[in-house]
Amino acid sequence: MTDRADARDRPTPAPSGAAGGSAPALRPVARTPLHAVIAERLLSHIVQSELEPGDRLPGERDLAARLGVSRTTVRQAIVQLRVEGLVDVRHGGGTFLRPLDPQAEAVAAVLDRRRRLPEVLEARRALEVPIAGLAAARRTEPDLAAIDAGLERMRHEVAAGEPGLDGDAAFHAAVTAAAHNPTLAELMDHLADAITETRSESLAQPGRPPRSLHDHEAIARAIRAGDADTARAAMQAHLGHVGDLKLFDWQPPVELDPDDGPDDGKDQP
Ligand SMILES: [Zn+2]
Repeated sequence: MTDRADARDRPTPAPSGAAGGSAPALRPVARTPLHAVIAERLLSHIVQSELEPGDRLPGERDLAARLGVSRTTVRQAIVQLRVEGLVDVRHGGGTFLRPLDPQAEAVAAVLDRRRRLPEVLEARRALEVPIAGLAAARRTEPDLAAIDAGLERMRHEVAAGEPGLDGDAAFHAAVTAAAHNPTLAELMDHLADAITETRSESLAQPGRPPRSLHDHEAIARAIRAGDADTARAAMQAHLGHVGDLKLFDWQPPVELDPDDGPDDGKDQP
């Protein structure tokens, strides 16, 4: 589960000989290239950072750390945003945000993401809150060790100034495993890609990784204590924080649907 982001680094294997294959298509084969995914996330991050047109973007190294990807990937993403006319790259002088064109592919992708995230967060709450309660009731010593390992991993990532994506994934996976319900685990696995989106979106926000780590520690304490009610409440609170995204308050720079603008042109046919 923690390797999912990395999996996007590798080209999707060609489905050769799959034409007459009998295996059910469990996962979509087509993958968006990593730099396009990162271009969307980068733009989303720009939105969440409340940068205005004319503002300078953070440096490559900072963006790479914030988004948990390589500098090369950030560079490719910036090229894509430049091709779409969303940023200006001044030689030796940094990258600057231009007025966002709602017709640009990356802007449309961010709008689509904003539409999709609330339902993913709702699904996470529907599954992970009861999972936390079951984990408190059923956890074994090896489960607790795996939960602690997830905490420890995120502590190291946060201490290094990283978003803590792998530690967060490891922690939630360990809690899910501790619930000992294969059907719930399967449903969580089904949502894995969508959950990765909510995770990267949330943890890219300034100040969020240490706060998430703090939430995790509270969940872990309740699970260790076998206190199902507190574990459920702590998970509910955590997912509330995860869903507190500046992105949701973002308005596209220009009216997207001309039919929605009644202020002018009242006399149009
Ligand atoms: Zn978390």
